[in-house]
Amino acid sequence: MAYIEPAPIKDKGNPFESMMSRFNIAAQHLGLSEQVYNVLKTPSKQVIVSLPVTMDNGSIRVFEGYRIIHSNILGPSKGGVRFDLDVNIDEVKALAAWMTWKCAVVDIPFGGAKGGITCNPREMSAGEMERLTRAYTLAMNGVFGEDRDIPAPDMGTGPREMAWMMDQYSRAQGTTVNSVVTGKPVVLGGSLGREEATGRGVMISAMAAMEKLQINPFNATCAVQGFGNVGSWAARLLQERGTKVLAISDISGAYYNEEGVDISKAIEFRKENGGSLEGFPGAESISSEEILLLDVDVLVPAAVEDVITEDNAKDIKAKLIVEGANGPTSSKADAILNEKGIWSVPDILANAGGVTVSYFEWVQNRLGYKWTKDRVNRRSDRIMKTAFDRVYKTSQKYNTSLRIAAYIVAIDKVSKTYEYRGGY
Ligand code: NAD
Repeated sequence: MAYIEPAPIKDKGNPFESMMSRFNIAAQHLGLSEQVYNVLKTPSKQVIVSLPVTMDNGSIRVFEGYRIIHSNILGPSKGGVRFDLDVNIDEVKALAAWMTWKCAVVDIPFGGAKGGITCNPREMSAGEMERLTRAYTLAMNGVFGEDRDIPAPDMGTGPREMAWMMDQYSRAQGTTVNSVVTGKPVVLGGSLGREEATGRGVMISAMAAMEKLQINPFNATCAVQGFGNVGSWAARLLQERGTKVLAISDISGAYYNEEGVDISKAIEFRKENGGSLEGFPGAESISSEEILLLDVDVLVPAAVEDVITEDNAKDIKAKLIVEGANGPTSSKADAILNEKGIWSVPDILANAGGVTVSYFEWVQNRLGYKWTKDRVNRRSDRIMKTAFDRVYKTSQKYNTSLRIAAYIVAIDKVSKTYEYRGGY
């Protein structure tokens, strides 16, 4: 079958290219027709808006904002809004497609989308951020909707911005619509359990993979790169289940203790130290590169993309990689890891606990009801475990890595749904 290859956008670390190279392999396994292939790789809607905002000094600045809906085949589209200087339409397009596969792999009834504004939130006051967020929401009035497209936080945005989005959308509708946005503060209808949801899903994926690899979590060791929301929760929950966390890291450096780092102490230290691990006394400093190459059973990259590359993949000693971050492994590194027999639970599966609990937030808002944290955790654990088992079985059936199997599961679901729904 002749696939039309996408043109490279940048040389290195291009998320669209990296996504498409895996997509292409999975599509070939499935024998996807060229027509359906072309439908699935193309975003269904791309919106670009100009947002004039009055800055605190009285000047007016025009920002560019995007919302890309990759697919609404499975249901309303879902995906975060990123505020960052590097935001550009190609990156947003790739991230939107990623959301489609992530929702499909955990079998939640959402399509994929992503939004962004090119701006530097660190240099903007709260007032400027609020005016920009409200301007963006108003400009997206015909795009967002509880049954159409549901934004969430991403880099540079959080519960505060989601509250403004919910309020602005509700004003335009003349009634409170809290289900239009997820990741809201709990008091506004955010879900209990959302904060730890992604790290918890990483832990569930790691436990499920260890079982298949016959690694006893009580004798296992692990290293976690990135100690933010995802990494610190993953480390804490793995430690609670008996796995020794030998090393953690953040932007300030990496910290190693052969007896195991006390994660509660590290979290406490980070809190009292302005969010940084710098100077953490419970471990010795090692280089940031070294943490990826430690002789541990489980490696959790939970910081940034493209940290496992063709340059360092050959030196990785872990038996299992569980991707808390989005896109931490380059597509060229995949082949090297496969060759060495190292398993990777891919990002679109391992970190899907977050979008799963976002889905629960939407469900609770629509029910007008609040679940307990226990119920949220139990249901998200079940979804993550079921998704892992489905991906594992698929990897055996097609004799592929877990990563390609996850893409096969996702593409199969979206393409079958598309074929049933039909085109014109
Ligand atoms: P965060 O901002 O809370 O934490 C990021 C952490 O990574 C910080 O500790 C930071 O110091 C560290 N870091 C940054 N650059 C680093 C580097 N070069 N080396 C080592 N550490 C570095 O972010 P987060 O929400 O935990 O997200 C982490 C990753 O997980 C991102 O790729 C994100 O897209 C992905 N993710 C997050 C969620 C979620 O629910 N938060 C869901 C899915 C995927």
